[in-house]
Amino acid sequence: MKKNLVVIHMESLSNQILFQEMNNLKYFMKMKSESIDFPNFMSSASSSIMAFTDFFYGNDWELDLTTNFENDFKIAKKDKNLFTILHSEGYYAKGIAYPKPWKDEVNTYDIWDVPNNIYDYSSSNEEEFYHNIFNAMENAKKQELPLALHVWDIRSHLYYTDELKEKGKNFFERRSLGYQSIDRTFKNVVKYLDELDMLDNTIIVAYGDHGDEFWSHSLNGGFCHSMEPYSTLVHTPCFVYDKTIKPSVNKNLVSLIDLKWIILDLLNINYNNKFDDIGCNALQIEREFVFSRNLLANQTSKYNGVLRKSYSVTNKDYHLIISPLGLEFYMYKVDPHNTFNLLSFFAIDNNAEILDFDNRGAWHTHFRNVMRNDQIEDIKENFKIMYKELLRYVNKKNQYVLDNNGTNILKHINFRKIKEQGNYQWNA
Ligand SMILES: [Zn+2]
Repeated sequence: MKKNLVVIHMESLSNQILFQEMNNLKYFMKMKSESIDFPNFMSSASSSIMAFTDFFYGNDWELDLTTNFENDFKIAKKDKNLFTILHSEGYYAKGIAYPKPWKDEVNTYDIWDVPNNIYDYSSSNEEEFYHNIFNAMENAKKQELPLALHVWDIRSHLYYTDELKEKGKNFFERRSLGYQSIDRTFKNVVKYLDELDMLDNTIIVAYGDHGDEFWSHSLNGGFCHSMEPYSTLVHTPCFVYDKTIKPSVNKNLVSLIDLKWIILDLLNINYNNKFDDIGCNALQIEREFVFSRNLLANQTSKYNGVLRKSYSVTNKDYHLIISPLGLEFYMYKVDPHNTFNLLSFFAIDNNAEILDFDNRGAWHTHFRNVMRNDQIEDIKENFKIMYKELLRYVNKKNQYVLDNNGTNILKHINFRKIKEQGNYQWNA
């Protein structure tokens, strides 16, 4: 019998939020410690539907010709949806979310695309949601088919709520109740699989789709995600739980677009991709870089420009972002909130060659111990390589837009600018 698959899309859960909400995610933390954990996982997008689509299709191109989500939503189907592949491999494929999103892009625009199936938002309360999850598992078992189930508990999104979350007396409590709901969902998924005697033959894959920022970089019209892909938003938790595999930590860089290919490998399914520019099996291949973005390649900068089109490249130590405000470069693991743009210490020439280092008045021994010559050289070297990678990635996206008569690209000229630090107090 083929292995069952349960995927849990963890709504609005970044590593930053996990750290803040750990006490409300105790079951999740226990499972994570018993899994193959991916501490260097990055989401490819800073919002839900982009992340959702990237996961299913295993590439980050499917929605790129969309100019806006309201009236021009286009899904290219360059490759096959993971669950469509599993369906054709004989799986009982089902997607269940709760509560219902304000508009159902998943079914309306056929992102889900699994034959004879819809992505199910019918649950009107938690009890029904869990009942529907149990039913899907039981149906697969009764029909003697392997199960492929995608579960999306949306209550941890700050917009979505239900009766239980509304019991919170302020935002903090409602937020924690949202994360407690994810935790209950994990607990119940494992409990039901166990009750149905399916757990030993099941792989559970969980990924965080993005985080939230409380306007730490700018107001962005009030958006908490969907803005520039700071690591606060795209550095998210991810793990693969399988009772038959020994727990471990896999330190490879892994992108959300890789999970489809990792899952196919873990399920021993041979599939010939239709499209070339896809994620990889990052369990086997050591990636040097992963990419993220906030808007689609041809999307207009939304809401009178409050959301700036931007892209990022990440390696194990650094995170480089390009937006219309210019370049930002962060040591994201020691500066997880991405507050200090390293490029403030450097000038760059027209070839993006980093020029002289300027300490800007930081003479203290703390500073000198961090910014030794070897560290300055490390910053320069990494910037040079990552700049090229990011430029290559953005060029590819822009070319695709232009080849398809689109116009809303991120202009090259931005690669010559360094984002100002705003009202940073250099010498207060
Ligand atoms: Zn989301």
